Amino acid sequence: MISAPAKPGRTGAGERAVFHFTRAYASHVGIELDPVLLREQSDEALRSLPAGPRHLAVGSALALRWLAPTLYCASPRRFERLDAERRERLLARLQHTRGMLGRVAFLALKAVVLGACYGQDAKEAEPEPRPSAPRPDGPPPAAGAERFDFPQRFDFIVVGSGAGGACVAGRLARSGARVLVLERGGRARPEPDARVALRRNYAQAGCSAAVGNTLIPLPTGVCLGGTTTINSGTCLRTPQELVAAWERRSGGAFDGDAFTEHIEEAWRLLGVRTSGEQTMSACSRLFRSGARRSGLPEPHLLDRCERGCVGSGRCCFVCPTGAKGTSSGTFLDPLRDAPNLRVELHSEVVAVMAPAGRGGEVRVRVRSVATGATGAVREVRAGKLILSAGALVTPWFVRRFHLGAAHRQAGNGLTIHPASKVFGLFEEVVRGWEGVPQGLGLVDPEDDAVRYEGAFIPYEMAALAMPVEGRRLRWWMDRHDRLATFGFMVRDEARGRIRYPLGAERPWIRYDLEPIDARRLGRGMELAARVLFAAGARRVMLPLNRAANELAAPRELASARLGELAPAEIATMAFHPLGTCGMGRVVDANLRLCEGVYVCDGSVVPESLGVNPQITIYAFALRLAEHLARAS
Ligand SMILES: Cc1cc2nc3c(=O)[nH]c(=O)nc-3n(C[C@H](O)[C@H](O)[C@H](O)COP(=O)(O)OP(=O)(O)OC[C@H]3O[C@@H](n4cnc5c(N)ncnc54)[C@H](O)[C@@H]3O)c2cc1C
Ligand code: SF4
Repeated sequence: MISAPAKPGRTGAGERAVFHFTRAYASHVGIELDPVLLREQSDEALRSLPAGPRHLAVGSALALRWLAPTLYCASPRRFERLDAERRERLLARLQHTRGMLGRVAFLALKAVVLGACYGQDAKEAEPEPRPSAPRPDGPPPAAGAERFDFPQRFDFIVVGSGAGGACVAGRLARSGARVLVLERGGRARPEPDARVALRRNYAQAGCSAAVGNTLIPLPTGVCLGGTTTINSGTCLRTPQELVAAWERRSGGAFDGDAFTEHIEEAWRLLGVRTSGEQTMSACSRLFRSGARRSGLPEPHLLDRCERGCVGSGRCCFVCPTGAKGTSSGTFLDPLRDAPNLRVELHSEVVAVMAPAGRGGEVRVRVRSVATGATGAVREVRAGKLILSAGALVTPWFVRRFHLGAAHRQAGNGLTIHPASKVFGLFEEVVRGWEGVPQGLGLVDPEDDAVRYEGAFIPYEMAALAMPVEGRRLRWWMDRHDRLATFGFMVRDEARGRIRYPLGAERPWIRYDLEPIDARRLGRGMELAARVLFAAGARRVMLPLNRAANELAAPRELASARLGELAPAEIATMAFHPLGTCGMGRVVDANLRLCEGVYVCDGSVVPESLGVNPQITIYAFALRLAEHLARAS
């Protein structure tokens, strides 16, 4: 999913334009950095972007230098020659632009500029802990990626090692089957700089997004363990009413009680436990005290898969202590000496041929993306194939290779749990980066489709997440140690779709928030803001793409019109793509697509869950492993 970076060494007009803008921006906001260092930073940040966002960043820098001042400030001067007030006005207008192309392009440029300007100070801004120790849990079960010479015939091939893939593979291997896991990514390492972790372990270096009536960044993981390696570790059981509905709709082919047992089994195997008071973050403490003062129900400590968590706050950037339970750590690593399980990293599956008839073999073409062996292609065969490449990639296989009678439906039905967060500024030092970022939760007392969960963004990424620009942004960033954030997500009514005009690597994701989703996001902002004010926040920043997004008192919420937000006004993100090969629509109740081919990842979840999905995906995987082991 990560497209080739630009060649280092050459300085093109694009890089120069981006650097000139970065330098002008830094000087505008009063950041003094050695120009050589700034240049290095801006070049490196630009090169690390995938091709699409990179081109947009360059186009945006050129337009900003030459065109935007004339269009937005009626001044034909270059950005750096405008007076400070005009520059500030221009940046604010661009920040809140509603046009999709303009917004995406400006965001791409911001990713470079803000990274170069603010990334330098991360260590000073968040003194401790900035962990960099390697994970202690040793090498992957089988290396071999560099050799790329594994055997050619297996009982099962599993594509992807995320929640669905690693779990089904590990369980099948335990039952004695010969299993090959092909994983596109490599083994993740903790990085002291969150931007580096993003580039190395996230699909498209963290730039994947859905577009529609608003822009929704939609990150997923590309590494051993898939998205579980970079997730928050929160565990919630599948809502029972959904399990019952799936059983009803399947005419009994999906057994709800058996599925519930698999949920409990996943819970046990992952060692899920309730997050501890001692590792609770200051953001969570403040939210809890604010909720108590507001007369809301008591927020609860969230259940998490971890063993020995020390609250270092880096869950989404690879846990530095190996405490967080991942799919690979739980289901593959314990089998590292098993002769019947192979895990091949840096191995991207590029083609799939289903058997012609009953009892035939599945053929899979796999391409090495390992340094030193990139481009080598091999064919492997198996009795059965399980697609677990995640809800954004699996539909590509189904559509491209016409797998199953309903292959044209694959990619439809996407749900994502639109999410956002509110920033609160406190008088006292908060140090929000310490403790478990997502250790506390609350279900909205008036609407259970809105769920609140802790969140915190490291300094080097926070600038990009704040919906303000220029000197306002600098003002907030200077107070980063006094910020508390709290997040929320919505059980969505909208359904998106994915298509692949440019291949699997660059999916086109279309998603339009429904009015009810927008209202619920507004409701989430309002409650989170009230709670932060009740906890003592002096100022609150709402995730809104508009000038009036800062509040100095709770009474200002009334005039913020949060119940009638236009989707384009909402700064939202999403972390849970699901449903693109839904059970009952694209796969059957046993997750079967066609002869010899199954799907086992978030794409089979039939509808919006309303809870964090990993436990549900693990339960589907345990169920499929049991079914396949019994059948073979
Ligand atoms: C920042 C973040 C935080 C989250 N926090 C939580 C949380 O706290 N709790 C929770 O329940 N959920 C959380 N989630 C969501 C959860 O982690 C995912 O829903 C889950 O991991 C999805 O599992 P999956 O098997 O569908 O896919 P993934 O885990 O995404 O795995 C797919 C794998 O397939 C590989 N792959 C893709 N294409 C190919 C190919 N062509 N060849 C070979 N391999 C390929 C990928 O590299 C990847 O490893 C979070 C997600 C994010 C992004
Ligand atoms: S908070 Fe706990 S689980 Fe998260 S990164 Fe730190 S030690 Fe790992």
